[in-house]
Amino acid sequence: MSRSVLALTDIRPAYTAMLAKRYDLHRLDLMDDKAGFLAKAGAKITAVVTSARFGLPVDLMDQLPNLEVVTSFGVGYDLIDLDVCRARGIRVSITPDILTDDVADTAIMLMHATLRQLVVGDDWARSGKWSSVGTMGLTRSVRGKKLGVVGLGRIGQAIASRAVPSGLEIGYFGRSAKPVDYRFFDDLVALADWADILVVACPGGAATQGIINAEVLGALGADGYVINIARGSVIDEPALIHALQTKVIAGAGLDVFYNEPHMDRAFAELENVVLYPHHASGTVETRDAMAQLVVDNLNAWDDSGTLITPIV
Ligand code: NAP
Repeated sequence: MSRSVLALTDIRPAYTAMLAKRYDLHRLDLMDDKAGFLAKAGAKITAVVTSARFGLPVDLMDQLPNLEVVTSFGVGYDLIDLDVCRARGIRVSITPDILTDDVADTAIMLMHATLRQLVVGDDWARSGKWSSVGTMGLTRSVRGKKLGVVGLGRIGQAIASRAVPSGLEIGYFGRSAKPVDYRFFDDLVALADWADILVVACPGGAATQGIINAEVLGALGADGYVINIARGSVIDEPALIHALQTKVIAGAGLDVFYNEPHMDRAFAELENVVLYPHHASGTVETRDAMAQLVVDNLNAWDDSGTLITPIV
C-alpha cells in the first residue's frame, strides 16, 4: 500500500502530479472539511509536503500522530518548529543551494534598482516626464560603497561574491566569524555604522526578530540603504517605514515583508523603495529544481528512510 502523504500546498503542478502518482496524496489546501479529514485520516498520514511559506503549525502536527517526515519547498524553516520535530522524532528536509543563485541575483538586482532608482526612472520614461519635465534627478552609484551582509551563509556569501566585482567592500555580521577575507562585526549597530548598504540574508524566527531596529537604521544613516531578501520579521517594519518616510535612511529594496501577502500599504506610497513580492527564487528553473528536490527527498525517505537535504 502506498504511503499516505498530506500536502499543504501545490509545489509545482507537474511535481505534485508525480507525488500523486506514487503516493496516496491528500491536498489539505483543497479540502472543504479539513477538520473532518484530520479527525478521520490524520493517523494514516506519515509524511507532510509543505513550503517555507506555509510551514507546519504545531496544532496540525498534533493531529498527525504517526508523522515521520516533513519535506519542505524552500530554505526558510521559521514556520516549522524544529524543536518540536526533534522531540517527536520527525525528520525535516528543505531545498538549500539550488535557490542560492537566484536569491543572490535578486538581492543584487534590488541593490542596483534601489540606488539607481529604476522604478522612478521607468516611470519617468513611460509617463512622458522625460520630455515634459526634463532630465531625471541624479542617482547613487554602488561602486565604492561598503556592503554590510547580515548573515554570511549560502545566500549571503553568494551576494558578497557578486558584489566584489562591482567594486563594493564587504563586511558582515553573524553569530561567529567565518574563514573569509571580509571584515567581521560582532555587533550589528557597528556594522550598520560602517556600511553604506545593509543586505539582510539571515534566517527569520525568534532569534532574529526585529534585529534591524531603529538604532541600526539610525547608525546606517541618511545616505544608507537596506536590502532585505531574508524574512520580513528580521526588520522592525514600523521603524523601517518611519526611517524611509523621514529620510533617516535613503532607501530600501525589499523582497520580503512582515505580513505577506498583505504588505503594509505605506510602502506603496514611498518613492525611495523598490518592492518585489517575495519572489527572489521565483524562476521556472529554480522552482522546478526545488520541486524536484522535494520529490527526491520524499522518495529517498520512502525508499530507504534517509533524506538528501535534512535540516533535522
Ligand atoms: P544559511 O546558509 O543557513 O545562512 C544563514 C546565515 O545566517 C548563516 O551565515 C548564519 O551564520 C546566519 N545567522 C543565523 N542565525 C543568525 C542570527 N541569530 N543572527 C545573525 N546571523 C545569523 O541559509 P541561506 O540558504 O543563506 O538562507 C538564508 C535565509 O534566506 C533563509 O533562512 C530564508 O529565510 C531566506 N531566504 C529567502 C528567500 C526569498 O525568496 N526571499 C529564498 C531563500 C531563502 P552564523 O551561524 O555564523 O550566525
